[in-house]
Amino acid sequence: MCTTYVAVRVADRLRAAGGVVSLPRLVRLNPAVEYKTRGNAALAMETDLTSETAFGIVCDTVETLALAEEPRTSPGVVVAGLDRNSSEKIPDNVTEFTRRAFRTQLTLDEAIGIIDGHSWHHAGYSGGEGRSPTGRGRIGGLAAIGALDAVTEWTYEHISYRQTSHRGTPRQVDTDSVFAAADRGYPQVWDTVDRVEGEAVCIPAAPGPILHGIRGDSPESCRTVARQIVSEPIERAATFLTNQGTDAHLSRGRLGQLTDGAGYRIDGIVDSPPETRQGGHVFFEFADTDTEIVVECVAFEPTKRFRDHIRLLRRGDRLTVCGEYDSGTIKLEKFAVRHLVQTERVNPTCPECGRSMASAGRNQGYRCRDCDTETERKASRQLRRDIDEGWYEVPPCARRHIANPLVRGGFDAPVHPEK
Ligand code: ZN
Repeated sequence: MCTTYVAVRVADRLRAAGGVVSLPRLVRLNPAVEYKTRGNAALAMETDLTSETAFGIVCDTVETLALAEEPRTSPGVVVAGLDRNSSEKIPDNVTEFTRRAFRTQLTLDEAIGIIDGHSWHHAGYSGGEGRSPTGRGRIGGLAAIGALDAVTEWTYEHISYRQTSHRGTPRQVDTDSVFAAADRGYPQVWDTVDRVEGEAVCIPAAPGPILHGIRGDSPESCRTVARQIVSEPIERAATFLTNQGTDAHLSRGRLGQLTDGAGYRIDGIVDSPPETRQGGHVFFEFADTDTEIVVECVAFEPTKRFRDHIRLLRRGDRLTVCGEYDSGTIKLEKFAVRHLVQTERVNPTCPECGRSMASAGRNQGYRCRDCDTETERKASRQLRRDIDEGWYEVPPCARRHIANPLVRGGFDAPVHPEK
């Protein structure tokens, strides 16, 4: 079942048991991993109850709530006994595990080794027949604990949940009120809607208890936008601290040194004209300027108008591309134009008649067939470029949870944000 909802119920029960409970952390791990729930989310929270009490409450909640509704997942629970009131740090090997969990794929064995090494409580549940090994959720659980210290930049999501009686039926939300609230909240609140596609991105398409989730840079502005949305009655709502919108999954990479299933920022040069292939996916070849190693970049059809920017690129343009690398292909999420080719070499024009001159043979220069005029070199022609330098991104309707929208700022070149 929706992990955020289970976490909210856990927090309620910890409070009912007399505990002080922090805002829950909603941590998005590497979106490329093979075994994952949608969005690859893990949840963590801090409480002053004893490890034993907390562990009992979390396990009971997962067993009664999560497993009953969705037997095919592979949930896991980890409880770290740390004295955070005395500012006890999360152990280094855990924060380091978390940093790797944002960018690579980790094993359950390693997670359990670290958890057992600290003598922390943990529990894993059946993955069901033919599914991943039992309790793979412990990888995310441990990574979410490490995120308490490993994540330095937090954003917020305010999630509203449907009443039980409404779940499974179409969501009743007034879309006009969503767009109006999103406009008032922007840019503090982002990825609420896709204005070009006319899509309310904050309302999930899949079944589940979430009515809408409002993301932004401050908890107050997320709550304000949520309050302005006219909808069916909500059961409960909660604000999460998250690493969404931070690009935590990207690290600097170099062509020739990339690992499958990891996210990168890579400098290079466009090496072939962009080509739209079957299904509407747009491809181009991308080369390292020193080694001439070439990979393929692709903007998939669901990235919609992002592909229009890609189609304007020319061979020789210098870019920084961002996305997940897999088997020789980079799946583009955003890119920066660093330098645009402004001229192209063309056959020279005859000074007598104004017609295009033809090659007179290899290293023989160019000649006009009619006038017999000759010239040695190709001419240079100014190109009309319809794209500017700076950052371009996929629209909100295609954004990964963890990807940083350009409107949030902090980029090293001008930005062209999608609203
Ligand atoms: Zn001529």
